[in-house]
Amino acid sequence: MNVLVLNAGSSSLKFQLIATDREAIAANKDVRLCRGQINRFGGEVVIEVLMRDGSRRKFAASTRDMQASLEHLMQWLASDASGIDEIRALSDVHAVGHRVVHGGELFAESMLITDEVLKGIEDCIELAPLHNPNNIKGILAARQVFGPKLPQVAVFDTSFHHSIPEHAYLYAIPYHLYPRHRIRRYGFHGTSHRYVSERYRMLRGVSKEQTNLITLHLGNGCSAAAIRGGLSVDTSMGMTPLEGLVMGTRSGDLDPAIVGLIATKESLSITETEALLNTQSGLLGLSGLSNDMRVLQEELKGHDDRRVRLAIEVFCYRAKKYIGAFLAGMGGSDAIVFTGGIGENSADIRARICAGLEWAGLKLDEKRNQQTVGSEGQISTDDSSLHAFVIPTDEELLIARDAVRCVLGQPDAAHSESSSKTRGARM
Ligand code: AMP
Repeated sequence: MNVLVLNAGSSSLKFQLIATDREAIAANKDVRLCRGQINRFGGEVVIEVLMRDGSRRKFAASTRDMQASLEHLMQWLASDASGIDEIRALSDVHAVGHRVVHGGELFAESMLITDEVLKGIEDCIELAPLHNPNNIKGILAARQVFGPKLPQVAVFDTSFHHSIPEHAYLYAIPYHLYPRHRIRRYGFHGTSHRYVSERYRMLRGVSKEQTNLITLHLGNGCSAAAIRGGLSVDTSMGMTPLEGLVMGTRSGDLDPAIVGLIATKESLSITETEALLNTQSGLLGLSGLSNDMRVLQEELKGHDDRRVRLAIEVFCYRAKKYIGAFLAGMGGSDAIVFTGGIGENSADIRARICAGLEWAGLKLDEKRNQQTVGSEGQISTDDSSLHAFVIPTDEELLIARDAVRCVLGQPDAAHSESSSKTRGARM
């Protein structure tokens, strides 16, 4: 099956075309035909495509909106110009898999999109007002472009965290606010945490029940998950993706009284204060320089800027603190898994986070850590009792595989194995 994976945002549509089916999944032989991004809807859009052979195409098109842009992309993909032999017509796409940010308490697994499921995603708009409406637009655009008969599947960022128990998802505020406004921890990055935990199982040859892990997704957004018996039992992101670890531009945890204090002292509205915490904080806010860890590390090497150093130190300390909290909460773990742009590529940040965790049984193998950049592998010494691994995430592959499983009617399989065979560079 050729599955088109879509991640629809407010001004961009990310896509990947993945050829996969039951046999390919079992044999780990999925093929990524291309990936790319359509930027800036309305007027002139720019379409960038990374082809299977590593070459890049970039072209502009005059289109009205997301639907017209998708239509244009599909015409190009099906034309001789793309050179993708597997796609000669629209009908060569057999399913569309959508990343959907919020499934609230409604969706515990990936779902074939029916009108009822679409209604459920709409019901969750209140929980993710910036994201779910765009995801819905993506679904409706694909319905228009491919027709209502083409199966579409929603894969939720929140689903993997459905197993988190009440004592970990409730906030200690008046209880009635939970049923009245659905205020609770939902967690995000679920597709990534699930992907790397399943990949860890394959690497280690352990069963789901034997999978006890702390996964650290460290990218522009960052989150940690405590995975016990293969199930998420706690995670650092909360009601929204603002809680938890320090991120590129998001503050992560802070004293809730600070929100009112900033609003009052800086004469900001609540919305403006929230925007400050989401877009001007984290690494960017602390360093005053950049939200990009690569830039900060280069700056630190070159100039040892105090605020840059502090930003990196606060980032790493927060991650370490969550490891400690989750080790206690889950009663010990077999491994820590690093993923995301920073987790996969920065040996220095991994070393800083792991430093001082020898008491917990984690001994970092310096050489393995340095050598494991953008690839998969163990970075702890063999005699560690708490291991550390790097596992590049591949959310799109999981979405494509879930789409296959949902379409072929294996209800449970949306939680089964995945692998990293088709991974390549991020756009
Ligand atoms: P992501 O959101 O997963 O694409 O990750 C983006 C983050 O990964 C940015 O902060 C990048 O600076 C960071 N990143 C990517 N490559 C490296 C690298 N080689 N060293 C440090 N950080 C990196």
